[in-house]
Amino acid sequence: MIISVVGAGIIGLTAALTLADRGHTVTVHDPAPASGASHHAGGMLAPTAEVVYKQDPLFPLMRASAEWYPDLIALTAKYTDLPTGYRTDGTLVVARDTADKTHLEELRDYQSRHGMEVDKLTVRQARKLEPALSPALAGAVAIGGDHQVQPRLFTRALIDACRSANVTFSPNRIESLDALDGDQVVVANGLGASQLVAGLDLRPVYGDVLHVRVPQHQYPLLTRVVRGFVEDRPVYLIPREDGTLTIGASTREDGRDQPQVQGIHQLMRDAIELVPALEECDFIEATAGARPGTPDDLPYLGRIDDRTVVSTGYFRHGILLAALGARCGAELVEKHTPAIDLSACDPRRHT
Ligand SMILES: Cc1cc2nc3c(=O)[nH]c(=O)nc-3n(C[C@H](O)[C@H](O)[C@H](O)COP(=O)(O)OP(=O)(O)OC[C@H]3O[C@@H](n4cnc5c(N)ncnc54)[C@H](O)[C@@H]3O)c2cc1C
Repeated sequence: MIISVVGAGIIGLTAALTLADRGHTVTVHDPAPASGASHHAGGMLAPTAEVVYKQDPLFPLMRASAEWYPDLIALTAKYTDLPTGYRTDGTLVVARDTADKTHLEELRDYQSRHGMEVDKLTVRQARKLEPALSPALAGAVAIGGDHQVQPRLFTRALIDACRSANVTFSPNRIESLDALDGDQVVVANGLGASQLVAGLDLRPVYGDVLHVRVPQHQYPLLTRVVRGFVEDRPVYLIPREDGTLTIGASTREDGRDQPQVQGIHQLMRDAIELVPALEECDFIEATAGARPGTPDDLPYLGRIDDRTVVSTGYFRHGILLAALGARCGAELVEKHTPAIDLSACDPRRHT
């Protein structure tokens, strides 16, 4: 089949690679590949730590995508030697004070009730795993199944892999689906999809993110993802193999696309509360990206007509859900029944 994919963020790129690997002729259209949310994301693959109360329809999607991630990484490695930053060292979640500890324990009960594996640790045990953690913490849990990729590396590798798999890149900004060639079209242009498909209710949910470099004498400051609650505010630190750390992320719907001083200040302060030696790191960059949010926080993934599949609205989980989006997106394009029930993701549900 001849297939046009609109958008070269993580969702469009993984869909394109999967479809090309299945023998289709694929063109990806994007004037600025990998410049959207995927450029700013932390890259945590966190089906357990990202659990939010009462979002039950999301859990099986996140779990399935986490299970399929090694296949997506292997598919990428089949076509490129470039690194993806995929790491399976697990995640610690820590609590700054006793109220945060209560929150952590309630969340752990909720996660356990949904069949997720979360191990309670003493602060001493957590500090044995990560000596840079503050001794003043109130509690900790370990989540072995929450992993990470480095999104900027991963999208660069995906572009290279797509080229090796004979995917064509076109620098066109698509203004109308009618203008596209192809037997099938995949609409995967993040927030821009609502301009192409009527009835998609997408909104930008901004997040500020920081990047620092760990000085040589402290490297590696952390060896796994550390997430935490500080006075009930969430913050995370993601160590990378290149010696940098990503710190994120605020959540705001103020329409401001530049990193905000208040958000950056708060993130930095909270992260230092958890890992005091962060103060000695080199500051590299502050950025802000827009998560493509939907009214119910579930993606839009499904067929809307005989020629068009929509795959967007992945909100705060698009890096994790890319494995699901790519596999089920390809199944939808080929008009097969998707490997998992996608009825909660119907792109027409808010029309
Ligand atoms: C601060 C922050 C932290 C995050 N952390 C995580 C995390 O740790 N884990 C996780 O799973 N998720 C995370 N996310 C969410 C994740 O980044 C997104 O859900 C995901 O990147 C969405 O990917 P996408 O390909 O749909 O969209 P995007 O990455 O936004 O890509 C859309 C692409 O479409 C192109 N485009 C737009 N309009 C058109 C058009 N008309 N024609 C052609 N091309 C077009 C754009 O140029 C862009 O390249 C985070 C997001 C943010 C902002």
